[in-house]
Amino acid sequence: MESIYGYSEEMLKNYLTEIGEKPFRASQIIEWVYRHRISSFDEITNIKKGLLETLKQRFILDTLECVTQQKSADGTQKFLFRLHDGNLIETVLMRQDYGYSVCVTTEVGCNMGCCFCASGMKKKLRNLETSEIVLQVMCVSKLAEVRVSHVVVMGIGEPFDNYDNVIRFFKIINHPLGLEIGARHITVSTCGIVDKIYEYAEFDLQVNLAISLHAPNDEIRNQIMPVNRAYPVAKLLEAIRYYIERTNRRVTIEYILLRGINDSLECADMLADLLHGLNAYVNLIPYNEVIEKPYKRSERETMLQFFDHLKKRRLNVQLRREQGGDIDAACGQLRSKHLKN
Ligand code: SAH
Repeated sequence: MESIYGYSEEMLKNYLTEIGEKPFRASQIIEWVYRHRISSFDEITNIKKGLLETLKQRFILDTLECVTQQKSADGTQKFLFRLHDGNLIETVLMRQDYGYSVCVTTEVGCNMGCCFCASGMKKKLRNLETSEIVLQVMCVSKLAEVRVSHVVVMGIGEPFDNYDNVIRFFKIINHPLGLEIGARHITVSTCGIVDKIYEYAEFDLQVNLAISLHAPNDEIRNQIMPVNRAYPVAKLLEAIRYYIERTNRRVTIEYILLRGINDSLECADMLADLLHGLNAYVNLIPYNEVIEKPYKRSERETMLQFFDHLKKRRLNVQLRREQGGDIDAACGQLRSKHLKN
């Protein structure tokens, strides 16, 4: 038995063809699963019994078990889900001016080892299946009773280290008869797996790309992000440039401000040089301190000066506002108390 939530339209069509059925039934099934949100195939009224029985033998309409649902004062909600093998994952729902946005997790744990990040303190146990990523959006939408309009792939895990499942996830949630989340309303963030950025440049959905740069040179980046040893800044920038040329799309550059590490005006200058002429949007992120880590958030004044300096250097830049800090749901803080040991 397989989860229906891991099947893209293309896969469903292939399957239907294989069993001698009409491929157009794929879109009917998608509509029932994601629009009507059926919990049993028996609820489907426009497909004959015989095929429904076959579907029932092949697919399950599974779900994620919600262990806790926490609400923040600002409307952010954090969900802890238990997977079928007992592993726990977290998903965050954020209320924005433009709608509801869900931040999904892609792996159980993470192997990237970014020094400032809480997620990497648990080594990666496995990739999430496509269905487990799709179900995070489905379950959060159901439990919070909202329509999800935006998705960010910025929870635990490195999405480009689980590339195929993440790409299929995009196709499934984007389907016009399904959840219909616009590609431009989806953002995937990577710590900079260069090979996958080239591959992603060929992907035909216009899903936004964000890069966790966090440092203006190799010296600093090597210190805080081990991935930089495999893919140094120059190689990363080359890949980003290729991606922009190939897709004609803008890239978001994420830059956490860490006190005394990467927040000097000299760093701002180097960053401006590095990004000069690039179709990029810089997102400065106030660091959320992690108890087990030595890093500190930059002073407010320092952040503002850094921001002003980038503005002066004519970069497209914003200082990210924060949400969900009171429930440990803020960016990079997804590490449930349940997982602490
Ligand atoms: N692995 C992917 C996506 C997950 S992290 C990536 O690295 O991009 C999403 C973002 O949160 C990344 O930019 C990450 O560097 C950042 N982040 C991690 N820990 C943080 C913290 N404590 N405070 C603020 N941002 C953090």
